[in-house]
Amino acid sequence: MTWLEPSSDEQRRTLARVSELVVSHAEAARSLTVAPSITADELRARLDQVDPEQPWSADEAIDWCVDLLTEATVHTTSPTYFGLFNPTPTFMAIIGDLLAAAFNPQLAVWSHAPAAAEMEMWLVRYLARRIGFDDRSAGSFTSGGAEANATALHLALTRAFPALSEEGLRAVDIDPVVYASAESHHAWLKIAHVCGIGRGALRFVPVEDDLQMSVPALREMLDRDRRRGRRPVLVVATAGTTSAGIIDPLAEVAGAARDHEAFFHVDAAWAGAAVLSDRLRTHLDGIDQADSVTIDAHKWLSMPMGAGMFITRHRDLLLETYRVSTTYMPSPVDATIDPYTSSNQWSRRFIGLKLFLTLMTAGRSGYSDQLEHDTRMADLLRHALTADRWQILNRTPFPTVCFSDPDKPDDADYHQRIVDRVVASGRAWISITNLAGRPAIRACITSHRTTADDIETLVRLLHDARR
Ligand SMILES: *Cc1c(COP(=O)(O)O)cnc(C)c1O
Repeated sequence: MTWLEPSSDEQRRTLARVSELVVSHAEAARSLTVAPSITADELRARLDQVDPEQPWSADEAIDWCVDLLTEATVHTTSPTYFGLFNPTPTFMAIIGDLLAAAFNPQLAVWSHAPAAAEMEMWLVRYLARRIGFDDRSAGSFTSGGAEANATALHLALTRAFPALSEEGLRAVDIDPVVYASAESHHAWLKIAHVCGIGRGALRFVPVEDDLQMSVPALREMLDRDRRRGRRPVLVVATAGTTSAGIIDPLAEVAGAARDHEAFFHVDAAWAGAAVLSDRLRTHLDGIDQADSVTIDAHKWLSMPMGAGMFITRHRDLLLETYRVSTTYMPSPVDATIDPYTSSNQWSRRFIGLKLFLTLMTAGRSGYSDQLEHDTRMADLLRHALTADRWQILNRTPFPTVCFSDPDKPDDADYHQRIVDRVVASGRAWISITNLAGRPAIRACITSHRTTADDIETLVRLLHDARR
């Protein structure tokens, strides 16, 4: 039927039109209203135009969707989107996603998708080596950082309670506890909930003035829980906190975890990209002591969503955690790993192709140039903000800049108003956060399109908003 597969000529024509739309979207990035405002009612009225009883032509439908996306999306691909690590995707990544959809390899079993499975494993091994893991490492692409972090808890619980795999929580006769800094990502709450240990099993370790996890406080909490008969199963260090880019003291946290035989996970969801730069890699010293690491390719590696990665030095534990076999799945091939037996997902999209194509063509130097460029843009921003009498609140080598007005450091409403004004201008997007109880305006550099001019634009908008 032609609606499933139009003629080859028709496909070529439509794809040519779409490629024009994709390129025009990139060209328009600087002039888009970064955060258009549209209400849910307006949007639903627009959607009422669509009626499955009366199908549209492909051209009409594509144009309609592109218009709606343009009007009702925060444009994370704008060079003045200083947002939540949602990057401008690389061009090769857009190509990779298109090809992945066209070939649609089934990545559950190796034998169905040998090329795709090996390309993903090649990437996992490559990143594992950059982390400092040996060749017993393994891992998988995930939907994002939250799934990768959940994977870490699955492994930690499986290691701590061997009977868990058969008997479930009934096998857990001692309270499991998980430790992460007060500045860690809040997905840990959901993960603890759905893994069955409960949100109350999570210890948010206080941070020092510099917002790093306090290792003495961590050790004290570990000791106290042990004395009360609890079992520390997982200690998480965050390398690049979501709010402020803070790196917990990785080697010291590793030591504390080791002393209590707890699994040590490094959540490097966005800053983990820095393993690709020799210069920035030094800020992650100690990451090689992790039992597992989360790196989100859809953050600082400039991939479209969703592309997370879970990488562990314990291949056997990974295989034990997700072990399964069925008669309806093809049998395994010698010396290969079936992704469905080594990851949380079953049927799975070829997530890795976009990163493979990007790394293959940009090379590691392409990436390290980009990452280092972003950190220079952040330095520029810190400098310009300081010159304009803003106070920088976080110390990080990574491109997240948190700041406030030194005259009103505790006035959250005031800072919120400044953020609202900047966003309402349509010229840039920034956000507000809270650092150790104080309001902070937050700007991250995550688009490869961001230049010194864009930094200047942001500083000017902030200056005007303050007046
Ligand atoms: C973004 C982030 C996560 C969650 O990752 P998703 O890709 O959104 O699922 C976890 N940890 C940190 C430190 C993050 O920045």
